[in-house]
Amino acid sequence: MYELIKKLDFVRLSGTEDEARAARIIAAECTSFSLDAGIETFPTQDGEVLETYLEVLEPYRKVYEAVAHRRSACLDAEVGIEYAEDGLDVNLAGCAGKAILLNTGITKQKYPALVKAKPACVIVGNGDLLDRDEDTDLIGGMLRPSVTDSCEERLCALTVRMRDLYEMIVKGASRAKIKLVTRDFENTSRNVTACIKGTEYPDEIITFTAHMDSVQFSHGCYDNAAGSAIIMELARHFTQNPPARTLRFVWAGSEERGLLGSKAFVKAHDEEIKNTRLCINVDLAGSPAGRDFAIVTGPDELSKHIDMSMKENGFAVEVKCDTYSSDCIPFADAGVPAVSMGRFGAPGMSYIHSRRDKLDYVSAASLARTGKMIKLFAERMANARVLPVERKIPDDIKKKIADYLAKK
Ligand SMILES: [Zn+2]
Repeated sequence: MYELIKKLDFVRLSGTEDEARAARIIAAECTSFSLDAGIETFPTQDGEVLETYLEVLEPYRKVYEAVAHRRSACLDAEVGIEYAEDGLDVNLAGCAGKAILLNTGITKQKYPALVKAKPACVIVGNGDLLDRDEDTDLIGGMLRPSVTDSCEERLCALTVRMRDLYEMIVKGASRAKIKLVTRDFENTSRNVTACIKGTEYPDEIITFTAHMDSVQFSHGCYDNAAGSAIIMELARHFTQNPPARTLRFVWAGSEERGLLGSKAFVKAHDEEIKNTRLCINVDLAGSPAGRDFAIVTGPDELSKHIDMSMKENGFAVEVKCDTYSSDCIPFADAGVPAVSMGRFGAPGMSYIHSRRDKLDYVSAASLARTGKMIKLFAERMANARVLPVERKIPDDIKKKIADYLAKK
């Protein structure tokens, strides 16, 4: 597992040549133990930033490091600035034509109110007050189609460092020169897929998912080259030890852009999904200190089953029923019970979604432990005489999935 993470130790951003390279590495790894793998492409709505300029003019003058959101509208103007706390209606009143300083992100729920306020643009912060330039990045946002599609007009948005947003609020920045030039385009992302046919119940399918993409600037070793490596070892194991049920493996692209790879897979394989009885998703692993988890987006019986079998076999695993923000969601949304497994790194001892998520903080021993935990569950499900979980999603979980998808 560690060796595969080493091969994937580079930024693997949705729709880039690097993501395509990661897909080829994963497909080649499957081929190395005689498992055929295919690469399935799908289109994504993407955007690029051609120019960003932000200079506060009053009551002080300063040029700030800034980056436009991808898929932002363009702007070239001198405008007033207003701090619109929380993007609340009462704070947005009177912001038309001005740049808004926002202390929160641009969420799907807030987007329509922000558009309605007709600001010249929205300025949000990234990172924290104490970030050091030499080991952090200004990470630009993206106005995802799932967020912008609710409104006809496109917002204009840019990101600054949090300390700079803080300074603008504290110093009462009131006027600025802003220039944003962006371009929308359709991009191509991909999933790597492979299948091992079941020897006894070939029509009952269990799907393993793990996303292979990372976010900007991040080598994504913990999130989620580690999960990709764990399901690769399961693929190797089951190729050598044929399972009773059919096992599908999906290394998904563009998870970080809104679960796009798993959504595309579910959409493209609706017949197969009807026969899919369980999804086992692995997202996050490898932290030396932390805790292993199993989050069941499905019937409570399954969480009890996992809890008991893990205790029985000496694995310490936190088990609960909930949604988990990862590739399990499109499967559960299609009626397939899903379990997300992996390991949360201890706070302060693990990093996610930044350049700090690197190989230095992943250990082979930790991967081995979490990998064995997941293998235990995978083997039981792959070879059970009767699968101990019904293909159904309880109503309370259905509601949580709907709420999750409405937010994203
Ligand atoms: Zn992830």
